[in-house]
Amino acid sequence: MAIDFSLTWEQKSLRKTAQEFSQDVLKPLVAKADAEPDPQKAFEMTKPAYVEAYKLGFAMGFLPEAYGGASVSNIDFQIVAEEICAVDPGFATTLLINGLALMPLVWFGSEEQKKKWVGEATSDPTGEYLAGWVVSEAPGAPGGTANFDHPGPHPIGIGVTAEYDKGKGEYVLNGTKYWPGNAGGWDLKGANVNTVIVRTDKKKGGKEGLSAMLVPRGTPGVRYKQPIDKLGHRLCQNNWIEFDNCRIPEENVFAAGNGDLVISKAFTWSGPVAGIAAVGVARAAYEYVLDWAKTYTAGGDKPIIYHQNVGYMLADVAMRIEACRYLSWKAAHYLDMYDSEGHALGAMAKVFAGEFLFEAVFKCMQVMGVNALDKVHPLEKYLREAIVFPLYDAGNKGMQMRKIWGVMADPDFNPRAFVDCEPIIFKKSMEGLGVVATVA
Ligand SMILES: Cc1cc2nc3c(=O)[nH]c(=O)nc-3n(C[C@H](O)[C@H](O)[C@H](O)COP(=O)(O)OP(=O)(O)OC[C@H]3O[C@@H](n4cnc5c(N)ncnc54)[C@H](O)[C@@H]3O)c2cc1C
Repeated sequence: MAIDFSLTWEQKSLRKTAQEFSQDVLKPLVAKADAEPDPQKAFEMTKPAYVEAYKLGFAMGFLPEAYGGASVSNIDFQIVAEEICAVDPGFATTLLINGLALMPLVWFGSEEQKKKWVGEATSDPTGEYLAGWVVSEAPGAPGGTANFDHPGPHPIGIGVTAEYDKGKGEYVLNGTKYWPGNAGGWDLKGANVNTVIVRTDKKKGGKEGLSAMLVPRGTPGVRYKQPIDKLGHRLCQNNWIEFDNCRIPEENVFAAGNGDLVISKAFTWSGPVAGIAAVGVARAAYEYVLDWAKTYTAGGDKPIIYHQNVGYMLADVAMRIEACRYLSWKAAHYLDMYDSEGHALGAMAKVFAGEFLFEAVFKCMQVMGVNALDKVHPLEKYLREAIVFPLYDAGNKGMQMRKIWGVMADPDFNPRAFVDCEPIIFKKSMEGLGVVATVA
């Protein structure tokens, strides 16, 4: 009996802990932080909950036991994420970004780097440790992020440069990043460490010219400006960062010339977690409106659930929530089997569940009727949270779909690999599809 979707006793207990944390620690601060107009203040308001999450192992638990983590599987991380996201997906994003920043070091870093940086992240007695994931770039021409794997030289693709100063054994960083999460830290003086994707070779394209660098807090030449004021996910921090002759020692570099693979794999690891995060929000909207439909009569003589239109719409939302949850679990299971090599399936879970969520919230609002617009109800917040999903964590159109396409286009691709749980190792040749636009 290999297929078994039931949770173990330990997983049920983990879910209970995550539920208690979400309801008792996180929920009381969400409404006020979400309404706070200053995005940095809103982020700072989440700190007490973050410290509690750190103590429970939710902030760093996915890091390997060998370096002080708990080797929490992608599946178990999902169980926690669904509960947190049913209360606030922005807060959960702060936890996810720690993984986006530090898991690449686990996959691509040296033994010494892992011991030092992952060891520090997992052993902070204050529980305030934050790691930032710094990839995305400011809009402009050229600018943006989606075409990081474009074959063109600088300034196409990733624009922040890191030039090697051989005499000093240091890299000198210059340029602007826009959107990276956690990077500014609790005081806008920097996260404890930031993993930054930079252009180490200006003459080469995105598949050869990118590398990852660890930029610790307190490094001169980095400025964290006022974070971005967003429509949704207001509890997490998105930064605007300027590098001005910022010097980084060469021992802080990893994945030299393979920054593209770091981007592709990190956004694969996070994909199924983003998928289940969408399930968490959809579940919250559906359960709220189901309860409404069973009690509200809309001036009739019976609750609106007895109207077929309402029943069908709720049934539709419910069945798709189940489908999204099991696809996310499947993708997580596959990633756990192959050390997070599951680029197509990870992206599928993220795209499928993330795009459904918006529709789910819209249908729930239609069921509820005009009262869904009243801010005394949580639907307007769910709608603001929902629109983030297709756009963040590597945008669905510019990045995640291209990854699925790249894997499928490979001559050796086996379309039955997922059902048979066979490995598909991601290759550079799977990147770069669709980055060179055709102009008539
Ligand atoms: C809450 C939140 C948290 C985030 N956290 C982080 C973080 O921790 N670190 C980080 O670095 N970033 C972070 N981001 C940014 C996020 O990862 C974005 O997904 C990423 O910047 C890419 O956005 P984009 O795809 O819209 O890129 P853009 O480059 O701005 O592209 C814009 C659009 O152009 C189109 N497009 C461009 N190129 C192509 C193409 N080749 N093929 C098809 N369509 C194309 C697509 O429609 C695409 O959406 C975060 C964003 C949010 C909202």
